[in-house]
Amino acid sequence: QAPPRPITSGIDPRFKPTLYARVGKKESYTIDSYKEDGGYTSLKRAFQIGPDAIIDEMKKSGLRGRGGAGFPTGMKWSFMPLKDGRQHYIICNADESEPGSFKDRYLLTEDPHQLIEGMIIAGYAMRASVGYIYIRGEYVLAAERTWAAIKEARKAGLLGKNIQGSGFDFDLQVHRGAGAYICGEETALMNSLEGLRANPRLKPPFPAAAGLYGLPTTINNVESFCAATHIIKYGPEWFASMGTEKSKGTKLYQVSGPVKRPGVFELPMGTTFRELIYDWCGGPTEDIKAIIPGGSSTPMMPWTDEILDTPMDYESVAAKGSMLGTGGVILLPKSMCIVNATWNLVRFYAHESCGKCTPCREGISGWMVKMYEKLVRGRGKPGDVELILDMSDNISGKSFCALADACMGPVLSSIKLFRNEYDHLVVNGKPMYPAQSRWKEE
Ligand code: NAD
Repeated sequence: QAPPRPITSGIDPRFKPTLYARVGKKESYTIDSYKEDGGYTSLKRAFQIGPDAIIDEMKKSGLRGRGGAGFPTGMKWSFMPLKDGRQHYIICNADESEPGSFKDRYLLTEDPHQLIEGMIIAGYAMRASVGYIYIRGEYVLAAERTWAAIKEARKAGLLGKNIQGSGFDFDLQVHRGAGAYICGEETALMNSLEGLRANPRLKPPFPAAAGLYGLPTTINNVESFCAATHIIKYGPEWFASMGTEKSKGTKLYQVSGPVKRPGVFELPMGTTFRELIYDWCGGPTEDIKAIIPGGSSTPMMPWTDEILDTPMDYESVAAKGSMLGTGGVILLPKSMCIVNATWNLVRFYAHESCGKCTPCREGISGWMVKMYEKLVRGRGKPGDVELILDMSDNISGKSFCALADACMGPVLSSIKLFRNEYDHLVVNGKPMYPAQSRWKEE
């Protein structure tokens, strides 16, 4: 158990958020409010410097994809075959569905023009005349506000033909998902947009080579497009001056679980878990035993001083055996049965599996979910945990997309860290921490 500490933050108290600066402001989602705060001036600069310079600036900024994988955004933009004369597309992946992630929701709801401006700039840089914003079906208000903002932008001549006399034509459409997590996987998302079943496609080819309708396409997360707006406004050096050597800029960290102030916090990349949890969230409200660092797919980490002092950047979290992912930090209280918590996550992945690949369909949706139910209900037998580990071997890395691997993150890490809780359930038929367990629910 790591001892609570007083304020530890090395962050300059004058640090101000950029992407989240307008969240919570009255009517921040309207074009008038956005323009009052200097909105749509990045676009002006983008038209002045031209498409190639925009891609150069994006590369120099060091921005890495904020959907979770951290692929360099400028490099991704440069993969588009820029002079082939074909129809190009850009897509905003706003299907944020990872348990523990909720940053994009507020960007869409509170500041959609910031996203629209970033997408116009991206479309101009990548010679795309059409952009789609694929919004998770459950985000009703976010979709309404984004549509309303698109209409305002069209009326103001910021979308449509010959935008601001630049000769560039570009328009945006909102497409709403219907509540399937798999639609956030970029190739499944494109299938869904095309009206097909949302099964992932094999990569490569990557979307820049063959994307939507087989044409050059670039897909970025909401936060990535919003960051682009500010990178073009303030310059790549400004963005690269924040963060760590390989993880630049600010990040929208999200915290859920038993802390005094859960929520979204925009902080420089490399802020430590301790700073985030104690200084910004006011500390835990009960004893904690583990942290999920970046959304449910990222392996659990123990609640120790070493982990609390780990900087939240792509490299440092990976060096501790997990992933930064979406930056959606979940605190797991000591009183929670870890086997039950993992069962919850396994059921989530089982429900969301598209069923295309056998290891995921049979392994997770079939076997894994039943094995966990057996354990949680107190019917586990010696050797069951070994069987789960053996099954994991046959699931990890053996399907088209990341969903099966994502499910193995919590399974393997919980067994590694809390094997004693699994064994306790098998030996005693009841959980070590029964508080929130469903072992008696049958
Ligand atoms: P990925 O590493 O396969 O790809 C990331 C991006 O980089 C993609 O756009 C891909 O096209 C591009 N890319 C990767 N290698 C490339 C190459 N060689 N050439 C050209 N482009 C290349 O990861 P992924 O499967 O797209 O995403 C996995 C991540 O998604 C996980 O780390 C997880 O954190 C995150 N995730 C996020 C959510 C959410 O709600 N935001 C939900 C589930 C998972």
